[in-house]
Amino acid sequence: MEIILYPHLTLRHKSKPLKRVDATLRDVVEQMFELMYQANGVGLAANQVNLPLRLFVCNLAAQPDDGEQCVFINPVITSRKGASEREEGCLSLPELFGSVKRPERVTVEAYSLEGKKIQIDTSGVMARVIQHEIDHLDGVLFIDRMTESAKSEVSEQIRQFEDEFVMAGDRGLIPVDEEIVAHLAEMEARYC
Ligand code: ZN
Repeated sequence: MEIILYPHLTLRHKSKPLKRVDATLRDVVEQMFELMYQANGVGLAANQVNLPLRLFVCNLAAQPDDGEQCVFINPVITSRKGASEREEGCLSLPELFGSVKRPERVTVEAYSLEGKKIQIDTSGVMARVIQHEIDHLDGVLFIDRMTESAKSEVSEQIRQFEDEFVMAGDRGLIPVDEEIVAHLAEMEARYC
């Protein structure tokens, strides 16, 4: 398992709700935490490891022996309040940062890995991470939501990601679209 980079097809996939959790999926979640910590990230959505599953993991401390590890399965935002502008980054677009406007406070309902219903009302960085990760599950990236001026500042970097992706594809390092689509369909058939 590895973190896929923009503009990989799966990052644009809108994930369907999960219907079952099994031992394999628990193992997937554990590996997602490991990858997130290796990359010094605070959140990682299943799309980012090439899985069409409606779940994400997060830990604001960005390290395993600190902070609180959270798993959100089938998360839904039920309330949004206020507005704030903050700089965001993404493990699928390393080294790229930009300002994004979002609601400051959100209420989120989801399920834990144990199937327990969770409801969280939060603001600040946690609200930011939750909204960024739920966007991933809908195939939306933070560059889509950047302010116009922020986006124009990183347009060259975005093009570089696109160029490098094409080159990696030419070198056979990325499966062709048909293979990716087949893989996503197989995982959906198993879990959604
Ligand atoms: Zn991201």
